[in-house]
Amino acid sequence: MAQAELIFTGDELLRGEVVNTNQSFLAEALLLLGIETTLALCVPDGRAEIASAIRDSLARRPAVLLLSGGLGPTPDDLTREAVADALGRRLEQREDLLRVLESRFADLGRPMENSNLKQATIPRGSQALQPVGTAPGFYVQEEGALLIALPGPPAELRRMWTEQVDPLLRDRFGLKAGEDHSFVRRLRLFGLGESSVADRLSDLDWRGGPVTIGTRSNADGVLIVLRARQAAGDRETPGEQEASARSRGLDEVERAVRERLGPHVYGTDGEGLSDAVAQLLLRRRSTVATAESCTGGLLGKLLTDRAGSSEYYLGGVVSYNDRLKESLLEVDPALLRSKGAVSPEVAAAMARGARRLTDANFALSTSGVAGPGGGSDQKPVGLVYVGLASADDVEVKELHLPGDREAVRLRTANSALDLLRRRLLAAERSAS
Ligand code: ATP
Ligand code: MG
Repeated sequence: MAQAELIFTGDELLRGEVVNTNQSFLAEALLLLGIETTLALCVPDGRAEIASAIRDSLARRPAVLLLSGGLGPTPDDLTREAVADALGRRLEQREDLLRVLESRFADLGRPMENSNLKQATIPRGSQALQPVGTAPGFYVQEEGALLIALPGPPAELRRMWTEQVDPLLRDRFGLKAGEDHSFVRRLRLFGLGESSVADRLSDLDWRGGPVTIGTRSNADGVLIVLRARQAAGDRETPGEQEASARSRGLDEVERAVRERLGPHVYGTDGEGLSDAVAQLLLRRRSTVATAESCTGGLLGKLLTDRAGSSEYYLGGVVSYNDRLKESLLEVDPALLRSKGAVSPEVAAAMARGARRLTDANFALSTSGVAGPGGGSDQKPVGLVYVGLASADDVEVKELHLPGDREAVRLRTANSALDLLRRRLLAAERSAS
């Protein structure tokens, strides 16, 4: 497998003021091309520091060395100079880049400053990547390594990657456009912990076979990552025969995992719980509404993440205060007094109320103690009820969730989605 190293420049990254989202984007995008990231490094905005990181990296002979950041016009943008130092090349002003920058600034209605002139310089022998904003990138072949410098702002970096770098690398490595060469498959499941997953999959070979299995736990459940190993040899790009053998291997293990985990699995790769719910609702032409307390609208947010969600999501009530539970959802005040807002009875009444109010086929409700304060012996932080009302009945699930406020709320919203998903799945099964 071809290998890549990544160097990120920026004092703000080192200080923790900015989260390094470029790293996850680039490492994932490289993996799609079958290129493995073997090292990712953050360095300060210093010419000598960046140059020395580049030299060290090139000595390890990666196929690709990606740099992110430091291509702007200010004195702390030093990537061009550092690359020139590390490779022993001079910086050259490029007339064509100058023209592009001039027209960019004209389009923006802003004057081009003297400080922007240096953005039209790139190391001798390198090729320019056309600017998305006003920072051009560049790439240069240095012995075995293709060094690529990209601007730091994530939106610019991502677009430059998609439009210019991804095609360039596919061309270099002989890969078809759009094809996924990662040989990774992700299965997502909800309602089982990692240890239960491990138990149920204990008869499978996790590490030794042609496909390795790994798990990771998230707010939206457990992620199972299946990875097909490259067969004998270490060729840069797998041939067609090997590629199809690896895909078959993945199919086989995926089937075995699904057999053991059944309806707990809700999706593959990027699909979230709300995507799974959306598909089921659309298939059954059903609608859903929400009545939220402790999630404060998060459930509605998840249900509207997809374009076209108006086809199945009618809307909801964020009834944080008990008075709104009474007035909008018609929850009995006596019930609120005797059982309290965080109770199975009130969660059921909220779901029923939302259904009545909206005429949706289903209504979901959430009520719980998200913390950090507000807990008691009877109702500790993390105690949550999620409700589901349908034409036939109301179902309430009690949850005891670990973690901080954010974790409890996210987990609550996802548990509500999963409650509906399972109901829809069961209805689909019994209908067929
Ligand atoms: P500019 O022309 O904006 O200065 P640049 O190429 O010089 O572009 P930097 O100065 O390194 O980029 O970074 C600009 C901003 O982009 C940073 O302040 C930060 O908000 C964001 N940024 C930089 N690197 C990263 C990263 N690795 N992950 C996420 N955001 C980043
Ligand atoms: Mg900058």
